[in-house]
Amino acid sequence: MLTSSKVNLCDLPYPALERFVVEELGAKKFRAMQLWQWIWAKNATGFDVMTDISQSDREKLADLAEIRWPSIADVRVSSDGTTKFLLELADGQLVETVLIPSEAPKRPNDLSVRMTQCVSTQVGCAMACSFCSTGKLGFSRNMTMGEILGQIQVARAHVHDTQPERPIIRNIVYMGMGEPLLNLKNVMDSLRTLEHPRGLAFSPRRITVSTCGIEAGMREFGDSGLAFLAVSLHAPNQELREKLMPRAAHWHLDDLVAALEQYPLKTRERITLEYLVIAGVNDQPEHVRQLARICARLKAKLNLIPYNPTPGTPYQAPTPEELLRFEKALWAKDITAIVRKSKGQDIEAACGQLRAAHDAAKAGA
Ligand code: SAH
Repeated sequence: MLTSSKVNLCDLPYPALERFVVEELGAKKFRAMQLWQWIWAKNATGFDVMTDISQSDREKLADLAEIRWPSIADVRVSSDGTTKFLLELADGQLVETVLIPSEAPKRPNDLSVRMTQCVSTQVGCAMACSFCSTGKLGFSRNMTMGEILGQIQVARAHVHDTQPERPIIRNIVYMGMGEPLLNLKNVMDSLRTLEHPRGLAFSPRRITVSTCGIEAGMREFGDSGLAFLAVSLHAPNQELREKLMPRAAHWHLDDLVAALEQYPLKTRERITLEYLVIAGVNDQPEHVRQLARICARLKAKLNLIPYNPTPGTPYQAPTPEELLRFEKALWAKDITAIVRKSKGQDIEAACGQLRAAHDAAKAGA
């Protein structure tokens, strides 16, 4: 295992980079903006290219600091164009990130395709939802800001997404491994960096953070206005939610819904409620009625996600007919429900599945 005593500049939010420049490098404050632009706008991976910084400062930088992104341990491309990366962090830990094309490519390697990237925020997850591969791994540690954004930089380099005026990766969803609100500081730092006008310059309207519903942090996150909120609901009553998401359900569903009623929303903004459809478990007529009661209280839309079967769980995906029946029953109750197709099923693209497959292969080897 290689660890380095150098400061990884990718882990420093702007104010911390300024402090580093003044206190460690002994340089003027404005050097921080130059460094920042090299790192976040020009994708520099070393100091040699930074020609607007003096040779002696560059040498000093190389002694004290580095620009280190995760490395790619595995890449899989699905027949539908979904690309899944298994990334190795500096301490050897593995996390997943997925690129999902918004539309099918018209020809191979069509770079005009727009993509949504799904990023991880923790190595493993402490929430132990019963249907989730990452939940089965348990929790190892939080990812740093540089590791969270490193997923984006690595993916951008991979698809040659280097022209800020014509971005390929247009939307970011924090829906990979881990629970973002349990790594709130690094997640919020990563959002501020992602949105910095002199860096990657993402609009908050192109970013969604998905949570299973954590009381501490939800309000702070909402007040920040840094991204849209998605909430993994998955069950329309407390009893079922306790079975499917035992730890998330410590925050009672009634209290979660009450907090969402009070959640600060921008103009025309709605909360996304994610609802994993598991055959025979949460797709029955009583669930439609319960969902209708919840949705009537909220400015929300419901995303139905057919369950992507995970080895070692008792759950099954609904058939297309069952899914359609459920969707239509929701529409009949005036609920804005949209089926989100599961993409990348042939490459184990659901949360934690590739990492789990990788671990299993290693254990069997
Ligand atoms: N902890 C956060 C974000 C990570 S999970 C959250 O709970 O929202 C991202 C989404 O993937 C969640 O909605 C999660 O429930 C869903 N998911 C997990 N396993 C899945 C599977 N096997 N099939 C489909 N979606 C899954």
